[in-house]
Amino acid sequence: MDGETTRQRYESVCKRIDDARARAGRENEPVHLVAVTKYAAMDQVRELIELGHVDFGEGRVQHFLKIAPQVQEYLDRRQVIGEGGEVTQARWHFIGHLQRNKARKLLSQVRLIHSVDSLRLAEEIQAGSENAESPVEVLVQINPSDDRGRHGIAPAAVRHLIEQIETMITIRVRGLMAMAPKVDDPEDARPVFQRVQELFQEIRRSGVGGEHFDILSMGMSNDFEVAIECGANIVRVGSAIFGDTEVAESTAAEKAGA
Ligand SMILES: *Cc1c(COP(=O)(O)O)cnc(C)c1O
Repeated sequence: MDGETTRQRYESVCKRIDDARARAGRENEPVHLVAVTKYAAMDQVRELIELGHVDFGEGRVQHFLKIAPQVQEYLDRRQVIGEGGEVTQARWHFIGHLQRNKARKLLSQVRLIHSVDSLRLAEEIQAGSENAESPVEVLVQINPSDDRGRHGIAPAAVRHLIEQIETMITIRVRGLMAMAPKVDDPEDARPVFQRVQELFQEIRRSGVGGEHFDILSMGMSNDFEVAIECGANIVRVGSAIFGDTEVAESTAAEKAGA
């Protein structure tokens, strides 16, 4: 990606998404791109907003609490000087592992939490959202390959967890999130994505998640095209858009347990 601008990389990702949808015969189904900001500088995020992009994802609470207000401030300023155009907001997706004691800080600011993987975390979200006007929308993160280094609930346990969360009034399960194991050839991720898609459809057919169970979030920079071919309707892409010069300070803070 040497020499390419953020804009060029973003447009190339959008085109590859459209091509993958076409290959899969899914031209009429939207696939949402969540731009993952963990490697992004603020001016890159601004550039995407100027291009009309709305959905952003962050996986670290610390970085989220820093960047989300900066983005909001930028949007407010743009409105004031009349450059707002159509876009007046950013929609934030929380995609990382969420510790229970940090969940409440995020609730009012995120549109969708992709990473609910335990009953206890769901209970914490429920407790923190009792006064919310509308339910908190979440995905259940599964660990499709039972990879011990990864977060997420085992596929065999997912249905039961959804049943339990469905009894909670202030949370709504919208679907599943999964990550494939890191592989060099994205084709090697296909069987994993296919398994997740089967599970997703099985749950939909069973009616456990209700009408609103319709989101399948899978696919990252390395494998989003394969994920789309396997039915993903949200992909989470970071480095293919922003490059991979990580924002060093927030990583250091996270490592220090912030
Ligand atoms: C970092 C991250 C992404 C984006 O990863 P890239 O490989 O940079 O596209 C997507 N999903 C989750 C959960 C992540 O942590």
